[in-house]
Amino acid sequence: MGDGQMLRVVVLEDESDQAERMSSWIVNAGHHCEVFATIGAFKDAFRKAPVDVIALDWGLQDGTGLEVLKWLRRDASCDVPVIFVTAREAEEDIVTALEAGADDYLVKPVREKEVLARLKALARRAQPESELLEFEPYIFDTGNRQVRYQGQPVRLTEKEYELALFMFRNRGRVLSRQQLLSNVWGTSAELNTRTVDTHASRLRKKLQLSSSGRWKLTSIYQHGYRLDEYVSH
Ligand code: CA
Repeated sequence: MGDGQMLRVVVLEDESDQAERMSSWIVNAGHHCEVFATIGAFKDAFRKAPVDVIALDWGLQDGTGLEVLKWLRRDASCDVPVIFVTAREAEEDIVTALEAGADDYLVKPVREKEVLARLKALARRAQPESELLEFEPYIFDTGNRQVRYQGQPVRLTEKEYELALFMFRNRGRVLSRQQLLSNVWGTSAELNTRTVDTHASRLRKKLQLSSSGRWKLTSIYQHGYRLDEYVSH
């Protein structure tokens, strides 16, 4: 991750002053920030957009940040880095949070440059090593999340890229729409299986996954999709 990389940060904080201060620091540094005041709102919005770092307050109106952390790690299988930003400074609280899977812990009052540096460090640590995956004639570059077709970059949206990567990684297997939804979009009530169909049909065009090519994306009636490779002999 380069230094100029934009981070997508989610802040769960119920004190509006503190939330606004954090948010303006993050936004002014060129990052994206979404603030939630309650656990309910946070959970509702969760997974609609990809996130690089989550900052959690401890005491919230409808529960604790610790519960949110446990929910993230256990129920949502989410391994996005989490930093606590809280007034609780007892050693046992800090240890409890870290043992529950928090990646960092800051005691209020927090300072602008330190918050930004810690958010960046967390995101950088979580960044997976980039690799090149070759499915001839396609190359997936997981570092810049790009697909090249015969050496030329193909313009894909974020979800189209993820869907394509998931399908290529699972080539030859029948994948249900539900499976694709949960792996690419995460579980969200607002999405339906039509989303998968729209994206699949765009991928078919953009990556030329039609009968004439080496790779073919087949619809499996009332079920989902299968991506197959045809090698001519
Ligand atoms: Ca609070």
